[in-house]
This record gives sequence, C-alpha cells and structure tokens, in this order.
Amino acid sequence: MRQKIILSVMLFVLFPLLFSGNSVAATYEENLSQAVQSLSVRKGDANFLLLTNAPYVKVDSSFALPYLEKAQEQTGCTVGKGNLLFFQRAQDHPLRLMLFDKTNGNAVIISKEEKQWVSEKLNMSPAEISKPSFWEKSKGFFAGKDMFTLAAIADVWAEGGPYDFLKSAELHNHICPGLTSGYLIAHYIQNHYPLKEGERYTIIASPTWCKEDALQVLLDCTPGKQGMVVKHLSKVQIDRISFADPAGIVLVWDEKRKVGKGYALAFDFKKLKALSPKDSPKAATVLSVLPHLDEPDRFVTTAAEFDLNEGLYDGITQAGENPYELAGLIKN
Ligand SMILES: [Zn+2]
Repeated sequence: MRQKIILSVMLFVLFPLLFSGNSVAATYEENLSQAVQSLSVRKGDANFLLLTNAPYVKVDSSFALPYLEKAQEQTGCTVGKGNLLFFQRAQDHPLRLMLFDKTNGNAVIISKEEKQWVSEKLNMSPAEISKPSFWEKSKGFFAGKDMFTLAAIADVWAEGGPYDFLKSAELHNHICPGLTSGYLIAHYIQNHYPLKEGERYTIIASPTWCKEDALQVLLDCTPGKQGMVVKHLSKVQIDRISFADPAGIVLVWDEKRKVGKGYALAFDFKKLKALSPKDSPKAATVLSVLPHLDEPDRFVTTAAEFDLNEGLYDGITQAGENPYELAGLIKN
C-alpha cells in the first residue's frame, strides 16, 4: 500500500515533467523562482529577457501588473535596458510571462490557465525555431497559441533586432513577414520623403495587411488621428492596379497651404522570401531579413508619384473612392 502511494506521488510529480516539459508548483511565486533557478542567467544579466503580455491582460478580473512587478524584481529586466518586452493581447487572454536566456535559447513560459499556474520549459534558439519540428511539438503546449509570438520576438531580440522593430511587434503581437514589410516601408518613407514644416503624412492603407501596425508605431499615423485611412481592396481591385506589388499610398500633405504629393509604393515579397530556404517556417523567414532591415530600398520602390490638391486629397481619403482610380493608376 505504502509503495503504491509513493508510486502515485512520483507519477503525479514526474508525469508532467516527462511528457510535456511542465513543472508543477502551486503559486505564481514558486513558478517564478523555479523558472529563474532553472536558467543559467542571473538577475540583472543583459542576456536575460522578460517577455510578457502582462500590461494588457487580466488575471481573476484584475489587471496583471502585480505579476509583472514581481517578475521584474526577480529578473532585473527593465524597459530602459531593452530586455523587458511586451506584446498586446485582449484583456481576457491568458497571462504569459516568458523568461528567456539569450546565451543558449532556453526559456520558461509561465501561464495562468483557468485556475492553475503552469510552467513550460523549452529551447527556442534560432536554430530550433527554424525547424518545422519545433512548431509541431509546440502545438501541445499550454502556451502553444502564443508560441509564434514568443519565439519570434525573443529570437529577433537575441539577434540584435532594432528597438523600433520590437516596438512594432508589441502592437501587432507578433513578428511576421507582413509586419517586417511595414517596418521597411516606414523607413523608406522617412528616408525618401522627410516632412517639411507644416506637412503631415496620411497613409492610405490599401491594400491592407500586417504592415499597417509598424507604420502606426514608427510614423504615429493612427486611424484615430486620421493619419491612416484603411481601405481594404478586393482581389479584383488589386489586379486592376497598373503596377505590380502595390503596398499603399503615402500622402505628404500641407493642410494650411492645401498642397502636397502622393507616392504609390510597391513592396517585393519575392526578394524577402528569397533570403531564406524555400518552405522555411515563418519565424526563420523573419530572422533572415534582420541583416537587411537597414536596406529598405532593396524591397520598397515608388511606383508612381502625383501632385495633390484639396479635391484629390479629400477624394483619396474619403469613403467610397478607390484611391488608385483617382490617382490614375488603374489598367485600361
Ligand atoms: Zn502579422
């Protein structure tokens, strides 16, 4: 009987460790200190990353900030040091706090799932996440639905990805080829069309994809402030545009003088995809672009430019008009 009890206890403790990499601990504090102990980095180490959605989600109907504060105390990670990163999620999404060791790619993800705290340990080095098997395996994790978010952001950080790229990822809640295109487009706009006194950008997000979230963060062009006008296009409408790979229009507009310029932009995804082997996991594609983030001209081109007057500016930005039609960029 006694042996049976011991066996049951052992199975209870070992089962999660053997089969899913989980560890069992009752409280958040226990999960946190076990996570810190299981990694080789120590408090205050610049190789230590804390990545979490804590500023956005709720735990038991309250905002999760107290959990974030405890994790900051244990890891020494701070926003100012660049090793405390966030990603946005809806308020009812499970809390995730990931402690990541840059020296070897080891990570522990602490999640609040229903009533219990769960810790999951795995290796997410760039080599690991570039294998399709990593993505198969991670589907079984509690944090599985956030794995792409966690792994790609952590490795972009580990590989020295720029701060404004990681900041774009916070709003978008992941780093994908689409967000990367927006990052490159934003820098292309800053480089080629810097604003002069009295001018502002209006981004015509048309067609619309993940790029819009990087444009909002880097250029402060938000829909709420009418710095971005979102106009979704159908496949038929896209096919009618007179140039290849349309990626939106940027208007440089002087509201007082009622003059400006429009620039129709193109983005070449073929060049981006050519940087990694065919059929690479999405995370590997993102990592392959990192050395080229300061070369927006390699991927982005201006397909057309045109003068703006008040009537054309209003037409392009208002509902019910196809901006390419008004700019004369439609095939006959
Ligand atoms: Zn995306």
